[in-house]
Amino acid sequence: MKWKQQIYNMKPYQPGKPIDEVKKEYGLEEVVKLASNENPFGSSSKVAEFLRASDTNYAIYPDGYAQNLRTAVAKHLGVKENELIFGNGSDDLIAIITRALLYPGVNTVMADPSFSQYWHNADIEGAEVRKVPTIDGRHDLPAMLAQIDEQTSVVWICSPNNPTGTIVTDDELQQFLAQVPSHVLVVLDEAYIEYVNDPAHKDTLPYYRQYNNLILLRTFSKAYGLAAFRVGYGIAHEDIIAKLDAVRGPFNNTVLSQEVAAIALQDQAFIEQCRVANEKGKAQYVEFCQRYNLNYYPTQTNFILFEVKADSNVVFQEMMKRGFIIRSGAALGAPGYIRVTIGTEAQNAKFLTLLEQVLQEQGVLV
Ligand SMILES: *Cc1c(COP(=O)(O)O)cnc(C)c1O
Repeated sequence: MKWKQQIYNMKPYQPGKPIDEVKKEYGLEEVVKLASNENPFGSSSKVAEFLRASDTNYAIYPDGYAQNLRTAVAKHLGVKENELIFGNGSDDLIAIITRALLYPGVNTVMADPSFSQYWHNADIEGAEVRKVPTIDGRHDLPAMLAQIDEQTSVVWICSPNNPTGTIVTDDELQQFLAQVPSHVLVVLDEAYIEYVNDPAHKDTLPYYRQYNNLILLRTFSKAYGLAAFRVGYGIAHEDIIAKLDAVRGPFNNTVLSQEVAAIALQDQAFIEQCRVANEKGKAQYVEFCQRYNLNYYPTQTNFILFEVKADSNVVFQEMMKRGFIIRSGAALGAPGYIRVTIGTEAQNAKFLTLLEQVLQEQGVLV
């Protein structure tokens, strides 16, 4: 068969192990997944209420234009309906953008470490990937700018950045956008924007109006707690949206996912509660890191990347045996670190007690 050459050495995305598999493998009653930055508080109770009462006709294709959800999001953000595109998660939008703009002969610029789907999709399309090392986990925008040339098609900015949790400040973003040539699409992935509270970060909506080579990506998978439903969206100038819409699959969001996303959007009180709880949870990890002198990145998200001063794959395994699934930094471009989703207060407390044990066993803590 005529496979693309670049597919030969590729592996599928390695997600955290599923809870049931870990339970079976280690004979555990309870396993907590703090690996994929899902919301530990679930989603708005209005979603569950709706699903119990729903009498959706499953025989009918969903609305490919996601009209009701589109209206709800447009109203919520104060944007025009034709400035939105919906994806089967923002992963789908990353793939759509890549498919539309990347091919052999063009290049794409991104931070390292950052979200793996940017380079993975670019590799599939055979485009050149230019990774620019982060500084203290933060995007080095001047260095990224220096990598842009005539052949550059897409630049990816992840703010807050996964896996480091750091933001690009408003000043940095403004300077960057003012200098990026207009033939380059800037993708600003804001999967964790609901958790940001640093005053150096400002509303980014004005920028897509000012720059018609900018798309903002957001998702219902993280703070909204709807990862299972796969809904993400992009916000950009209508000309960008029109191009990307041509590449989008015809029915890329399910009926139920469109409905629940619109419902979840209305419950901003839930998002606020989660934000407050996340700040408290974050403090538990920061306190732990400070107590044991472990380096950590100042996170603006619901996860934290911190040093374990041991083999992060070993720490990952040892924590899994004890019922916690996390991510080893080794798999994320940050060896010696682990990335942990901030859970409920009780989950965090238990996790940190067990981590203390593991780090003692590893000879890190005495
Ligand atoms: C989780 C995540 C996504 C993917 O979100 P989905 O909407 O579930 O596909 C995109 N970007 C970043 C940075 C993420 O962490």
